[in-house]
Amino acid sequence: MKTKVIRMKPGDFDREAVQEAGRIIREGGLVAFPTETVYGLGGNALDELAAQKIYHAKGRPSDNPLIIHIADMDSLEKIVTEIPEKARLLADAYWPGPLTMIFPKSDIVPCGTTGGMDTVAVRMPDHPLALALIRAGGGYIAAPSANTSGRPSPTRSEHVEEDLTGKIDMILDGGPVGIGLESTIIDFAEDIPTILRPGYINRQMLEDIIGPVEIDRGLIAADSGIRPKAPGMKYRHYAPNAELVVVEGAQENVQEKIRELAEEKIRQGYQVGIIATDESSDAYPLGLVKKIGTRKNEESIALHLFGILREFDDCEVSFIYSEAFNTPRMGQAIMNRLLKAAGQQKIQV
Ligand code: AMP
Ligand code: MG
Repeated sequence: MKTKVIRMKPGDFDREAVQEAGRIIREGGLVAFPTETVYGLGGNALDELAAQKIYHAKGRPSDNPLIIHIADMDSLEKIVTEIPEKARLLADAYWPGPLTMIFPKSDIVPCGTTGGMDTVAVRMPDHPLALALIRAGGGYIAAPSANTSGRPSPTRSEHVEEDLTGKIDMILDGGPVGIGLESTIIDFAEDIPTILRPGYINRQMLEDIIGPVEIDRGLIAADSGIRPKAPGMKYRHYAPNAELVVVEGAQENVQEKIRELAEEKIRQGYQVGIIATDESSDAYPLGLVKKIGTRKNEESIALHLFGILREFDDCEVSFIYSEAFNTPRMGQAIMNRLLKAAGQQKIQV
């Protein structure tokens, strides 16, 4: 299959191209597009065959349900049977935005889209090009991240092109994304709403609007055998080719440990990568050191995480040592992705 790539500015996009992309979606094809979180791989959410094509293009296990992207609240009413009051409040506060909510699904949503579940995950993205595409495509776009399953999520069109060229109909390149980590997912099935995946909208931001919120125990105790409630969170994910280990503790101890680990592997003849920050990169004399961002702006760390993991794949390192990033606002989301990429390998110093 030939994949057409169309480059445009997010604020000033080519309306004709969006119409063409919308037509592809309505006819059952696949289009990758930017959102504010990561690039999505879109297909018509109400078309079971389109959902199958998404799973196939990504190599994604078909029990891992897709998120449906909508552009207005009327669309929500059609795909769910019930909207809890707290979900309405959160939609008022954070939609369009990086928040996905789980609802009981209505009959028009095929099980092929929801991985056989009777609930459906829904989000309204905060990106002009994504919203225009959803409208042009018929209102309901199922879109997981536009990467090969297991690889780091795509934050630039080049990442999508690397993984999906020849496998999908079109890629809309709207430049790099703004946030760089996937949406927060919240579920209302229990008395106290539960975060199934942490993201830019953190616990405090949710609690400010709806009161107490819990975090799925399967996320906190990721290696304890408790299954996460979001089916997708159980898979190894975002993984670079190299073995990644995260080192956590006081900054000086972390730096010393990473220097020691890097030196040992380099002595054994391996190439080693190090994930540092603008502040700490000079502390590492050996290894291929990459700056993920600055601790003065944690958003920069979130934004570059997936891209850096991909860069290390291109430089053939065998081991990567990363500092931990338990930053105040997005630390939970950043560490969730980083530790998943590391297969939960963490050294405490
Ligand atoms: P991605 O499409 O890569 O952003 O991943 C979507 C995430 O949403 C996966 O972790 C899914 O397991 C989760 N998800 C989607 N639909 C549901 C649902 N109905 N219930 C719980 N989790 C869901
Ligand atoms: Mg994904």
